[in-house]
Parts: sequence; C-alpha cells; structure tokens
Amino acid sequence: MRSILLAASQNQWLRHRAVNYSFVRRTVLRFMPGEKLDDALGAAEALRSKKIGSILTHLGENIKDRAEAQQVAEHYLEVLKRIREKGLQAEISVKLTQLGLDLSPDLCFEHLNAIIGRAEKDSIVWVDMEASDYVDATLDLYRRALTAHPNVGICLQAYLHRTKDDLANLLPLRPSIRLVKGAYNEPPEIAFPRKQDVDENYFELGARILRAKKENRCVRAAFGTHDVALIRRLADCASAEGFAKRQFEVQMLYGIQRAEQERLAGEGCTSIVLVAYGSYWYPWFVRRLAERPANLWFIARNVFEA
Ligand SMILES: Cc1cc2nc3c(=O)[nH]c(=O)nc-3n(C[C@H](O)[C@H](O)[C@H](O)COP(=O)(O)OP(=O)(O)OC[C@H]3O[C@@H](n4cnc5c(N)ncnc54)[C@H](O)[C@@H]3O)c2cc1C
Repeated sequence: MRSILLAASQNQWLRHRAVNYSFVRRTVLRFMPGEKLDDALGAAEALRSKKIGSILTHLGENIKDRAEAQQVAEHYLEVLKRIREKGLQAEISVKLTQLGLDLSPDLCFEHLNAIIGRAEKDSIVWVDMEASDYVDATLDLYRRALTAHPNVGICLQAYLHRTKDDLANLLPLRPSIRLVKGAYNEPPEIAFPRKQDVDENYFELGARILRAKKENRCVRAAFGTHDVALIRRLADCASAEGFAKRQFEVQMLYGIQRAEQERLAGEGCTSIVLVAYGSYWYPWFVRRLAERPANLWFIARNVFEA
C-alpha cells in the first residue's frame, strides 16, 4: 500500500483530478490549517499558546520555471517579515527543488542565501531532504550555505544506507540536523526496506547526533518523528548525556500526534510543529497517506459526510 500511494503521489493525472474533489480537500485540512500564509500564521499563534513552536513551509516542489522559483524565494522573505512583525518564534523550512534546483544549483543557492541572510540570526532556516537523486546536490548546497551562515539546518533521512557517512562528513562543519525516517519510494540498494531496520538506524544516528551536540559539534539536534517509542528511547539517551529537557527537541507535522506534541511541551522539552500551507498540496498529502495508510479511512469518511 505504501508503494502504491508513493507512486500515486507522483502521478500527474491523479493530481489534476484529486485536487478538485471536495472530500479530498476536506481530508487535507486534517494535515494543514489552510492554503494561505495567514492560515499558517494563525496556526503558529495557536501553537504558541500551548508552548509549541512552529516551522512554516510553503508547499511546492520541482519548479521548472525561473520566475516561479523567484516568486517562491520572495514569498519566503515575506514569511520571515510577517513572523517578525507578529513576534512569533517560528522558523521556516524550504525544499531546494522549489527554489530552482532543477534549473540551476547556482540559482537555487542565490535564493537560499538571500532567505537565510534575511532570517533572524538565532533562528534556523531548515532545508528539507527530497528523493535520493537530490541528496548529493542538497548536501553540496547545504555545505555552501553553512559556510556563509551558521543558522541553516539540514534534514537527514534514516532510511538511506548512506546517511551514516553523510552525518560523519557534516559534523566537522557544526551543522544543525533534523533527523527523519524518510518519505519517498526508494529501492533496497539505496534504503532499508524493513521498517524495523529504519527504526534501529534512526536510533543509532539519533544517539550519534546527541553525542555530537554534547561535544559542541552540532548546533541543533531535532528529531522529526511521531514515533513515540523512538522519542522515549532518544529522550532517555539525551538525559543520560546530561541534557536539560528543553535541549531535547522533537518536531512533528501539523495534525499528527497532537497529544504527544502537547505532552512534550508540558514536560519542558522543545516541541515544534511543522505547519505546511499552500495550494500545491497533492504530492505532500499523498506522502502523508503513505506513512499511515489507515489515513485513507479519513478520506472514506469525508466521502460519506459530503
Ligand atoms: C518535522 C518533520 C519534517 C520532515 N521533513 C522531511 C523531509 O525533509 N524529507 C523526508 O523525506 N521526510 C520528511 N519528513 C517525513 C518523515 O520522513 C516520515 O515520513 C514521517 O515523519 C513518518 O515517519 P515517523 O517518523 O513519524 O514514523 P512512523 O513509524 O511512520 O510513524 C510512527 C507513528 O506516528 C503516527 N504517524 C506517522 N505518520 C503519520 C501520518 N501521516 N498520519 C497519521 N499518523 C502518522 C502513527 O501513529 C505511526 O504509528 C518529515 C517529518 C517531520 C515530522
């Protein structure tokens, strides 16, 4: 089911049709507060009242047009301005293919550099990790950006065999890292096919990242997961390393494991929610379905509630 849904996430024919069905649109609202920046800022304010931080991301990927990449970069500059005006503790997360990586790495770097240059120095601009054929280009641009600005973070995917080496190569640069399991359809030569191997690799990489943070070789160590068992194991590991609760950071997606987001914040841990918004939600939404095919029931329920 996961593979079928991940293939569907890339299907243009399905995308054009699915976005017009009101029951699909209603289901999407479970995972995003709305399509507009104001919807995301409103969600960030509501999260702040629960002591939960937020990261805003404008949905979109694989942009093939320079003018569109420019518009996305300008949009993020506007987001940073609005965050500052509202006094929110929010950060942003960007996809490099949305900033023109497919067109030209240099153009993409220019946009990324401009965005980081405009962000508050004590906040991180996060760079998402996309499918495996983008990992080298993403890491190259991340290294370039990190040389110019310390406040940029990268997402690493525990399902990839290569991530252990990528992490070792990044640590001398004092990166900020968000560790996730990985959301794309990858072959077994590239990614662990069995979930338990991904989970175990996640834990090992997570423990390594915590140790690096302790040794001051990593600026921010964030765990991007909803896996409560893994969070508990890593929290124990952080406590054994002597970290205070607030130094243990978990990032989750809007609408998923809300009780756990609040529990972590209530315990004094750093709990952050990634709030996605925008009209290009189809591939992102279908990846959320693939992570938990039981989510298809929400679609089914919305068909009958029409
Ligand atoms: C902040 C953040 C940023 C991310 N950035 C990236 C990125 O840049 N690149 C990338 O490849 N991936 C990214 N991801 C997605 C990630 O790779 C996983 O696909 C996703 O987090 C699901 O894996 P999990 O760690 O939650 O563990 P799982 O083992 O998949 O899930 C653990 C439990 O969490 C719940 N759960 C998980 N997903 C869902 C869902 N969609 N709906 C409902 N319940 C769910 C279920 O109860 C499940 O049993 C990001 C995830 C987060 C939280």
